[in-house]
Amino acid sequence: MPDYIFMLESRLSPEQLQALNQVQQEAQELSLNLYLVGGAVRDLMTGSPIRDLDFVVEGNPLRLAKRLESRGVRRFAVDPDHRTAELLLTDGVSLSVEMSRNEFYQSPGKPAQVSPASILEDLRRRDFTVNAMGISLTPGSRGLLLDPTNGLADIESRELRVLHNYSFVHDPLRLLRLVRFSTRLGFHPEPRTKELFDAALERDFQYHIPLDALGREVAQVAGEENSVAALKALADYELLEVVHPLLQKRKPDYDGLAKLQKYCQQAAAAGYRLDTVGLVLHYIVQRLKPRLQKQLLSKLGLRKAELKQVLGLDKEARRWVKLLGRRRSMGPRQVYQVLDAAAVEMLVFILAEYSDKKKVQAKIYNFLFKYRPMRQRLPVRELQLMGIQPGPKFDQILEKYFEAQLDGRFRSRPQQLRYLRMLAGLPKTSTKPVKKEKEKEKEKDKKPAAGPASAETKQPPAAPAKLAPEAASLGTKQAPKPPAPPSAPPAKAPGKNVPAPPAKPARVPSRRSAKKLKKKSHRR
Ligand code: ATP
Ligand code: MG
Repeated sequence: MPDYIFMLESRLSPEQLQALNQVQQEAQELSLNLYLVGGAVRDLMTGSPIRDLDFVVEGNPLRLAKRLESRGVRRFAVDPDHRTAELLLTDGVSLSVEMSRNEFYQSPGKPAQVSPASILEDLRRRDFTVNAMGISLTPGSRGLLLDPTNGLADIESRELRVLHNYSFVHDPLRLLRLVRFSTRLGFHPEPRTKELFDAALERDFQYHIPLDALGREVAQVAGEENSVAALKALADYELLEVVHPLLQKRKPDYDGLAKLQKYCQQAAAAGYRLDTVGLVLHYIVQRLKPRLQKQLLSKLGLRKAELKQVLGLDKEARRWVKLLGRRRSMGPRQVYQVLDAAAVEMLVFILAEYSDKKKVQAKIYNFLFKYRPMRQRLPVRELQLMGIQPGPKFDQILEKYFEAQLDGRFRSRPQQLRYLRMLAGLPKTSTKPVKKEKEKEKEKDKKPAAGPASAETKQPPAAPAKLAPEAASLGTKQAPKPPAPPSAPPAKAPGKNVPAPPAKPARVPSRRSAKKLKKKSHRR
């Protein structure tokens, strides 16, 4: 039998694994039986990336949510009737904890009556067999796979199967979910499910989806990696009509969205965590009249600020483009200072919308893929090894170093280290004697020696009085990866190997001047 705990440990990101362990520990302390369910288990079995963590507890999950909240986890949605809570961890991991429950439906689209139930009953009330699996995280049965509807077999045959004949009648939202999951996973509805799906559409059950559920589903579609495919599939079944009849007729701006997707993928590959829902919504409603766009987005439950953000994207992008275009002779340092005040999402949006503006594109490209990664690799560790204590001076040195790096002042690593020593106020190290010795050696033996240590490894820079013992390794290229300094680091969110800047909400840039933006970026 596969070791599912081992699989989880190897497939979850370090942040997700930490979240899982935290939830597990808190549940154990509250004596709650805990299970990982839904998408995470499905994705574990299919080998797809695990997006979020859905937990079920036998008992009251709100106690668990409260406890997690007291440990710094953000609670952003709680439904006391269904006893569910959605939580967000600071490092971007989203998770939900729900009460193990049974649901009783009276009529299509009407809220179900819920009652506490065992985990097996809970799994049997779900949408598709592949989503109805759980892994126990409870001591005694930890690692046990619960698969009461044989979801594993359907994963193997790549099929979506509802759990009973009334599935779409009870909850017509599942019609949209089926289309979304089949595009995402490349799974097909098995014949009986397809029959039930067609029959439900024929009987117009899709028009019974409650508005709040519809809004959440549209946001889910917008959050899909390939939202173009999901939207096209929905349009093929005339399901965009449910969102708005004119949307079905005019269709979303697929071309614009495809371009956006391309740049989002590039940014994601470079380690950026983006929240692109707002951007995608812009392309979904783009072809509708402005008044209708506003109406539809508020109908879908967008809050005022979100609405403003989506509807103001074009205007904001124009401002940035104007700002970047105006300053023709901007050097890397200015580009960094100006663009550091922009949300990464906005920059990706500009890349997609202004592909003809080559100069603007180049500045954004350099910022996202060159300068920001540079900032993530500042020589924090090296500076610590030089004996500089984390604090304001430490940060200042790194800031100056970064500016010099942006100005292109270094060509080699020794140059970098020399400059760092200079900034740190340490005496210069001379490499001349080493060179001479090397030349002598060459004369002695013309053949290149088999793997001689480099000049630097042979003769480490003279250690200052306070130098830590490991400082001897400074000159080698295998300097350990710099950890974030304990004081507020100038580098933003450190990624794994790549930068993972926190997704900032799109902000409207100061209209006045780059100078103002510059100040703003310094303040942050
Ligand atoms: P994702 O990877 O997008 O998070 P997911 O399958 O986890 O996919 P969620 O929306 O997070 O989807 O829902 C978690 C689980 O809750 C699902 O896997 C499914 O078991 C159950 N679920 C969600 N919505 C419904 C629904 N409308 N009817 C029945 N079960 C549902
Ligand atoms: Mg999920």
